[in-house]
Amino acid sequence: MSIKMTNSLNDNELASMLAKYANLIIRSGCNILPGQELYLSASTDSVMLARACTKAAYEAGAGHVTVNFSDESISRMHYDNCALEVFQTIAEWQALRSNSMARMGAAILSITSEDPLAMEGIDPAKPMASAKAAHVACKEFYDALDLGRNVWCIVAGASDAWASRVFPDLSASEATNRLWQAIFTATRVIADDPIAAWEAHRKAFDERKRWLNSLHFDSLRYTNSLGTNLEVGLNPTGIWNGGGDTTVDGREFFPNMPTEEIFTTPDFRRANGIVYSALPLIHNGNRIEDFWLRFKEGRVVECEAKCGEEMLRALLEVDDGSSRLGEVALVPFDSPIRNAGILFYNTLFDENASCHLAIGKGFPDCVSGGQEMDDSALRSAGVNESAIHVDFMIGNEDLCVTGILADGTEIAIFKNGNWA
Ligand code: ZN
Repeated sequence: MSIKMTNSLNDNELASMLAKYANLIIRSGCNILPGQELYLSASTDSVMLARACTKAAYEAGAGHVTVNFSDESISRMHYDNCALEVFQTIAEWQALRSNSMARMGAAILSITSEDPLAMEGIDPAKPMASAKAAHVACKEFYDALDLGRNVWCIVAGASDAWASRVFPDLSASEATNRLWQAIFTATRVIADDPIAAWEAHRKAFDERKRWLNSLHFDSLRYTNSLGTNLEVGLNPTGIWNGGGDTTVDGREFFPNMPTEEIFTTPDFRRANGIVYSALPLIHNGNRIEDFWLRFKEGRVVECEAKCGEEMLRALLEVDDGSSRLGEVALVPFDSPIRNAGILFYNTLFDENASCHLAIGKGFPDCVSGGQEMDDSALRSAGVNESAIHVDFMIGNEDLCVTGILADGTEIAIFKNGNWA
């Protein structure tokens, strides 16, 4: 699939594509149940898509939709004006809202549209403190997502500020139009029947997942010309996931739209060697670029970044688990999103353009029985715990990934950036 740049979508075309996109999000992404609550978070830049999703949700039989709007300029004012202590706690009512939404079985939908550099220059300790506080106060909410109790879905909406970073040579309105087209293509909304296209997409993942899951690799070795030479231990009961997800009570949904990755949770105690970034990492509106991390026994012991090193160090210091791995993901170098030739500066897209790793929290559903385990059982099974989960891209055109079995046998998984 490639992204064909047609002429701009006119207002009517955009409205009808938004309706088609919203219908896909609600029916395939959230797989909403009749009478179910939908909890939708969006920024004020995504009002049109939020309205379209609310309409589609009621058409699909949702019982009620709660919309939680935020505004990037106002968030920036908080960071510029409030002391660090303010971010170290979450207002009681906010935690209550999130936790009770999870308890009542709401579908959790988030629309991302942020300007990648909106928070440039803020004190990195503030968003980290806020993530940490939310992780504690909203534990019931995050557990509902991590342990497969509620369906959840993250999608993107174009905004002028984000689009202007992606297409700096275009006017804001042309850039936004172009970004919408890229989003519609990457999420298969351009297909005649996007819901059927996503069902086919789900099935396409199954064969590769079966192959990886049948082999039970003990570790993976990553090497490339950037200088990466890293060995990552996998968990003996580890599971590769990708495509779609299923709740503990059997409801299928898509946590991310788009998605092109197959991923698992590595053993947070076993990573050794050095890994180089292949794409810039945009985190909390800050840019970290040209960096490397050196791991010893699972932990980052040394790092360097040509740009954004302070933010990188702040991330690694959030808590005990933030300097350890929570995810390894395989994405071929010629994925449809990479082939579009667009750097989105948004993890939802860029993580589907490159093999990546994530520091921070691991996925309980990537070890057998993990969704029924408590925190200490998950740790024993090798699943990392942290308030953060941050992806960074390591896949380039000559990345090799070798799977190593417990008896030392080596099997090529990726050669020159693609499936071997
Ligand atoms: Zn990922």
